[in-house]
Amino acid sequence: MARGMDHFLYRDGVLHAEDVPLPEIAAAVGTPFYVYSTATLLRHFTLFDEALSGTEHLVCYAMKAASNQAILKTLAAAGAGMDVVSGGEYMRAKAAGVPGDKIVFSGVGKTADEIRLALSGGIRQFNVESEPEMEVLNRVAGEVGVRAPITIRVNPDVDAKTHAKIATGKSENKFGIPIARAREVYALAASLPNLDVIGIDVHIGSQLTDLAPFELAYQKVAELTETLRGDGHTIKRLDLGGGLGIPYARNNEAPPLPSDYGALIKRTVGHLGCEIEIEPGRLIAGNAGCMITQVIYVKSGEGRDFLILDGAMNDLIRPAMYEAYHDIVPVLEADAGVEQTPYDIVGPVCESGDTFAKQRMMAPLNAGDLVAFRSAGAYGAVMSSEYNTRPLIPEVLVHGDQYAVIRARPTFDEMINRDTIPEWL
Ligand SMILES: *Cc1c(COP(=O)(O)O)cnc(C)c1O
Repeated sequence: MARGMDHFLYRDGVLHAEDVPLPEIAAAVGTPFYVYSTATLLRHFTLFDEALSGTEHLVCYAMKAASNQAILKTLAAAGAGMDVVSGGEYMRAKAAGVPGDKIVFSGVGKTADEIRLALSGGIRQFNVESEPEMEVLNRVAGEVGVRAPITIRVNPDVDAKTHAKIATGKSENKFGIPIARAREVYALAASLPNLDVIGIDVHIGSQLTDLAPFELAYQKVAELTETLRGDGHTIKRLDLGGGLGIPYARNNEAPPLPSDYGALIKRTVGHLGCEIEIEPGRLIAGNAGCMITQVIYVKSGEGRDFLILDGAMNDLIRPAMYEAYHDIVPVLEADAGVEQTPYDIVGPVCESGDTFAKQRMMAPLNAGDLVAFRSAGAYGAVMSSEYNTRPLIPEVLVHGDQYAVIRARPTFDEMINRDTIPEWL
């Protein structure tokens, strides 16, 4: 089975999302927009679920990757739990019908209010990242009158070999507690009356394209499990985080398969008899979404041509923020044998950082043509903003031959009316 297979394919020269031609959606909702494939979301979730078959496990979708209610409901219906990193995400998960006992709360800065919200509404576990957080959790659990189930996120000091902004498992990162201090911190946790220590958590980064860092980290977690059990702690659940990467460029070497990742998990921690949790985000949503934009102008510059699109950095910030690469393809397939030409592909925002690609080889394009940014389903819409008072772009979900707008584009009035004028004006 092809790696990273998705359901965005050309049929008779027209790019489709499943059975829906993208120009049809563009005509109905306008550009730019995000479009997601239900079949791809489900396929990716199922790959993880099957990779862990034979062990007690829960795949908790890291919903920060793409958190539209319709996406959450799609995955929840397939059995997914959710990994949340804020009170808002917790409320989104609950609103999508996910029961509290399938919601894991991660994040380095949970506030007392967020903790109270989750304890009152029901939670599978908190992944605790520091001693001060542990003290607050203990206090709030006492106030609510429950015991808070926790794992402690350990930082294994492993180089994830990914972009610096999304590496989280080195000792200089802000995440987790140093694994060398784990025994001390578990002893503190065990002494706090309102905490129920159940396991260990680790997450070393995002967009990992090699299994070796996972292997190192999970070996350290396995050793720690034995040590902590020796100290008398109950370690019955291992949360192994997310981070498996996706192929952003078609011709790149493919990152590891979820099945290889699952085999690695079984090999490194399978003998411990723990329930396994994983928290994939990008690999579930990334290739399940595209951003569709239209060429506004083709502008000839000094020695280079610019494709000026109606999508911009505020709609998809990954290239500006992480120097991320996205395949950009015409929605109407170029004729075979057409000579390609280099373009700088940019948005209309008043910053030079609003550049999606430089000197990208494309078949010639004209104003009005549609282009698709592939692999834009994760960390796309969720990171968008209304910079330059550009409306948040709509999200569309395709399911076979049906599609639905799952978040509408706001009108200018809606955007402006969110501001309020002080009485002295
Ligand atoms: C971001 C994050 C994830 C998801 O990472 P992906 O690379 O999208 O799979 C999982 N767990 C935690 C704690 C995270 O912060």
